Amino acid sequence: MIARDGRVVVVGGGLASARTISALRRKGLTGPIDVISGEPHLPYDRPPLSKDVLTGSRDDTALPFDIAKLDVTVHRNRRAVGLDTASRTVRTDAGDIAYDGLVIATGASPIRMPGDGDQLTLRTIDDALTLRRRLVPGHHLVIIGASWIGAEVATVARDNGCAVTCLESAEVPLAGAIGDDAARHLLPWWKGIDLRCGVTVGSVTPNGVLLADGSTVPADSVVTGVGVRPAVGWLDDSGLSVDRGVLTDASCRTDAPNVVALGDVAQRWSPSAGKHTLVEHWDDAGGAAAAAAAALLSDDPPVLDPVPYFWSDQFGHKIQYTGAHSSTDAVAVYSDHDGALAAVTWTAADGTLTAWLGIDRPRDVVPARTSVGGPVTESPVVEALQKTHRVVHDYEGARR
Ligand code: FAD
Repeated sequence: MIARDGRVVVVGGGLASARTISALRRKGLTGPIDVISGEPHLPYDRPPLSKDVLTGSRDDTALPFDIAKLDVTVHRNRRAVGLDTASRTVRTDAGDIAYDGLVIATGASPIRMPGDGDQLTLRTIDDALTLRRRLVPGHHLVIIGASWIGAEVATVARDNGCAVTCLESAEVPLAGAIGDDAARHLLPWWKGIDLRCGVTVGSVTPNGVLLADGSTVPADSVVTGVGVRPAVGWLDDSGLSVDRGVLTDASCRTDAPNVVALGDVAQRWSPSAGKHTLVEHWDDAGGAAAAAAAALLSDDPPVLDPVPYFWSDQFGHKIQYTGAHSSTDAVAVYSDHDGALAAVTWTAADGTLTAWLGIDRPRDVVPARTSVGGPVTESPVVEALQKTHRVVHDYEGARR
């Protein structure tokens, strides 16, 4: 725990950073706060980048962040390059900064494919604005990866009249995220897109994409959306415990004194899952901020164990998912009587509802999130679905 007038350094200038700074001030920190941010911008929101910014309905996604009111010094375009927890110093590309308390909020970086061809990724507002300029009628866009980012980019590109090819290594889009059984029902949404599943990309070349089988897919532009890696490189010599992300307890505390980590960079202990989990979603990055601030300012911070939640807007639909399913859960897919997909539920062998996915059903999210973790037979959301919808598929999973 640090004194109220202690100096806090926050590395990273995204959602987790902005929310933690507000929480620190709300909880009474009076000491200086320095933000080391690798970007030229003040904190902004990323989910709209692949939605409103790409469509052109927004140019600015700034988060509420009043530098003067929060009394914070933001070092823009400055990168942390090392951490010495013994001397409590962050090394940066423009000198060292000492701290009493440290917040690690460096998020994640997109994974890139090999090759020397021009390859766009979508993580920053500058990435989104660059991609947007290319989404003009007739432009041939090749998207590598048909997961959340790939689907959202494909939506806008198709609607803008681009010729869109999407290369996916799994058998169906989103299979890695929600499993084949559920994902195959979303396939019709990809109409008008040259979707090639089960292909392996070798590299990005100046003319397009070279596949592992030696064939090429020509492209005017290539966007890679194959996932992200927590931005932990600067912590290599720090002695902090890092797996994929920085390991923390359920209150965001790392194994170094007065050092907390949250957001996409952190792999936090989940009491309900009984393991460290890397969530990589907006709700968790912002939702952990109050606990991270409390972990610096008190010896008894709250224990976090939220039911995970995320959403995606694609092909004219809003997908919302809450919970955490396993590949052995039974999967039920529901549609309304006109055949429109409505929801997917996952149930463990002991009858526990482990996850729920809704399609264009925002009002069901809160009750679904509340009933995840309890018996499926007691979930009002599932009961209502069973009354008003039909089950189009009921997969028993690997448990039978
Ligand atoms: P970030 O927002 O990534 O912020 C980290 C910051 O740290 C960055 O500014 C980075 O430049 C900086 N940084 C990194 N390394 C260093 C360093 N060494 N020194 C200094 N600064 C550094 N989630 C959902 O739930 N639903 C969605 O629909 C959704 N859509 C998304 C769409 C896009 C295009 C993207 C990119 C993400 C989306 N997400 C979505 C995920 C969500 O935005 C992230 O979970 C969230 O932004 C994580 O916040 P963060 O603060 O941990 O990391």
